[in-house]
Amino acid sequence: MLRGLIMCELCGLTYSGVYSRIGKNKQNERKYYRCNGRHAYKKLGKPQCLNTTLRADDIEKVVLETIKKAEGSNGAVWDDIVKKCEKSGLNSDSIEEALTSLMDKGLIFEPVLGTLKTT
Ligand SMILES: [Zn+2]
Repeated sequence: MLRGLIMCELCGLTYSGVYSRIGKNKQNERKYYRCNGRHAYKKLGKPQCLNTTLRADDIEKVVLETIKKAEGSNGAVWDDIVKKCEKSGLNSDSIEEALTSLMDKGLIFEPVLGTLKTT
């Protein structure tokens, strides 16, 4: 579930989460974020947006690494992680989405409200 909408910096449209099946028997699902201006541009009467499609895995990897570097023994401050990831070029909505997903996967947890730790 998308908690927030990711805005495209090039065309101002929103990104949608899309799933594509990969692997020999298409057994694996991979999540991507794609700008709506890439495929719905005709309907919208706009030129096609060429902004990159983001792989959810890649975003999560960056966020997880950032937490690992910052957590120390007491965990990392949620807001600091968001700021650090923004500096790496990630959009704040995609960071929040990645944090939620990492928690769902059990890779990080929130020991104290507003604090993040890897498991
Ligand atoms: Zn776009």
